[in-house]
Formats: sequence, structure tokens, C-alpha cells
Amino acid sequence: MPELPEVETVVRGLSPLLMGRRLSRVIARRPDLRWPLPDDLAQRLSGATVTGLRRRAKYGLLETDRGDTLIFHLGMSGKFHQLAGEPGLHDHVLFELPGLTLAYNDHRRFGSMHLAPTEGVADHPLLRQLGPEPLSDAFSPAWLAAKAAGRSTSIKALILDQQTVAGIGNIYACEALFQAGISPTRKAGAVSAARLSALVAALKATLDRAIAAGGSTLRDHAQVSGDLGYFQHSFLVYGREGQACPACGGPIRRRVQSGRSSFHCPACQR
Ligand code: ZN
Repeated sequence: MPELPEVETVVRGLSPLLMGRRLSRVIARRPDLRWPLPDDLAQRLSGATVTGLRRRAKYGLLETDRGDTLIFHLGMSGKFHQLAGEPGLHDHVLFELPGLTLAYNDHRRFGSMHLAPTEGVADHPLLRQLGPEPLSDAFSPAWLAAKAAGRSTSIKALILDQQTVAGIGNIYACEALFQAGISPTRKAGAVSAARLSALVAALKATLDRAIAAGGSTLRDHAQVSGDLGYFQHSFLVYGREGQACPACGGPIRRRVQSGRSSFHCPACQR
């Protein structure tokens, strides 16, 4: 599933293809993804020039010269690729430019697209509740300490809460908690300020590394196939139940917390 680094990689990959360029035609090949596509999606985007492309949490935001912002989410399996021939079954939205057609492909259809006025887009229902970006200075040890103070919820649930920090998913929560040596089930209010500070640093470092890796892979990948996708990174604990902890050699454990798997090392994480 694409998490924040993958979305960042996709946005960075799309930028050179789309920024400052006119979308000659946009075609919705079905009425919905996870939710209905805007009825006027094709009409509002066809002929518009792309004036901005950025990421907010796990959303991509594509701005046009018509004052619209396309808010897209990749869901579980969404990706963009350059269309070489006829669109395939899962190429749901086509973005035609002179000499180039980009297809949004999503076989599971958990992705979404919304249109909103660029002015005030931060107040869109999908975006207005979001906390600070994890890689911004606003996500600081002091911020996390304020959010954790007095809370009996688990530290993992706290950092997965999008109002605490935007765009952290299960994978990077597991990885950062391991790097900071904090048990995913520890009560948020019981984690010391020093350990919360280590967790903030671990989250930023983990995401930075994944974005850097995604970027280089995207370039290599694009030269071969024209795909603007993302790849599965290798992880320290995520998905490694029963394998050796990279720090102590003991077995990585998995426990289910709020319906999601928490991969952790019981010896290294307290
Ligand atoms: Zn360990």
C-alpha cells in the first residue's frame, strides 16, 4: 500500500511531466473509484494548465490555472503510468497531453479523486483535520509531547492519528517505534520526553530515507518502462514476524492492535 514516501515519489515523478503543461483532455473511464468521481472532472480539467503539484499527508494535490485543485489518493493500489497503447481494464482516468498520455491505474479501486477550489483547499473536509506534515518543523518533540501528555491511548495509536501528525501509516509507525526503542503498546502519556523526541527523529529519518530510495528507483524505473509507481522498501521489523531482530537477533513479533499488525522486537522496545 502506498504510504507517504510513495505518494511523495509519485508527485515528484509527475511534476516534470505535468508542471506548466496543458492537459489537452482528461477522460474518466468509469463513474467512481472508492467514491464517485466528480461529474464535471473531465470538463474542469480538460484544457486546463497545471500550475502546481504537491503532496499533503497521503494526498496528491494538482492545481490548475482555473483555480481548481484535484485532490487524489492512491488508495491500496493506485499508480500513474505512461500509456503506450490502448488503455487497459484498470486504467480508470486518462490525462492526455501533447505527445503523452498518463493513466491513473487502480485495480482495487480504493483510490479517490476530488475537485476543490484551490483557494481554501486546506479547509476541504479531507484535509482540514490533518495535523502537521511529519517532515516539517511544526512536527517537533514539543508538539508530540503536548499531544501525548496525559493520554492513555497507545503511542502507536497516537502517531497513527492524523491529527497528531499527517500521513503516517502502519508501516512507518512500526519502523519508527522500533528505531526509537518504544513498545507500540506503551501508553502515550507514559513515554518520556527524551523518548518522544527520539521518536520524532526516527519518524523523520525513516520517511526521509524511504523518499530518497523511492526517488532513485523511480528514475531507474521510468527509463525502462515509463511507470510512475513506487516499490516495496525493505524494512527492519515490518512484515518480518519470526525473523531475527537486526539489533539483538531475537525474533520479531507481530501483535494485532486496533485491527492492524504491530511488528516489533519485545527485547529492544520497551
Ligand atoms: Zn531486538
